[in-house]
Amino acid sequence: MLQDFCMAELGFDLLSRVMLIAPHPDDESLACSIALQQAVRAGASLRVVYATNGDDNPWPQRVLERKWRLNTADRKRWGKLRRAEALAALKILGVSPDEARFLGWRDQGLTDLLMRDCRSTLQRFAAIISGWSPTHLLVPSIADTHPDHNALGVLLYFVLADVLPMDFETSAWSYVVHGRSAAFFERAQKLPQSRIETARKKLAICCHKTQIKLSRRRFLAYANRPERLLKLERRSCFSDETDWREAVARPSQILLQSRTGALRPFVAIR
Ligand SMILES: [Zn+2]
Repeated sequence: MLQDFCMAELGFDLLSRVMLIAPHPDDESLACSIALQQAVRAGASLRVVYATNGDDNPWPQRVLERKWRLNTADRKRWGKLRRAEALAALKILGVSPDEARFLGWRDQGLTDLLMRDCRSTLQRFAAIISGWSPTHLLVPSIADTHPDHNALGVLLYFVLADVLPMDFETSAWSYVVHGRSAAFFERAQKLPQSRIETARKKLAICCHKTQIKLSRRRFLAYANRPERLLKLERRSCFSDETDWREAVARPSQILLQSRTGALRPFVAIR
């Protein structure tokens, strides 16, 4: 019944505008293939926003290109390849290249971006979201163990809680790619998936050739793992997912406040 509840709440239809925000190319396939297929089938408008090109990915690149030292040009080329893989995966899922955007922020650098340039980053993301007016927003969870994922999760928490006006209506859901946070998995809703959707998810994952070269089994395992989404309340994302009660944005850093009231600088939540 939980599954039916989740689908009823997501409620994609012709008027839906579904925005997926992903830290890297491949997150769309690993975490949201089923959700995207269901949105496409419902006739919803789609927008997929990638924060980075996934270009700081040295081990697969060293193996595939047989090159130990990687320079800026090498990384740029790798990022281009990963963008093309993401577009191919989206096409499998029914999403056209016109519906994707790549921000080109520094891969493995989203925590740093938040700490150093918090306010302008928040404003930029708020403009991206309000400029497209999504009815549904799919975002990385702050409970994800990858620093880029949880940093982007924190950023979007602030955008939803403090930057976008409260009368800006959108239904926000978080997803986890890395880790097994009990706080997330015990609360998140599973999406039912048909065999056809699962097969298509596998095809989408296989478009990420640079990634499955070294991690084929691990990547394909995502196809059979049910997708889970946790609905975010505009002012209670932190208490929903972690032990932290509240977060405070300062010009140059983010502080987290514990349940006892103590403040500490934000570092990647693991
Ligand atoms: Zn990722």
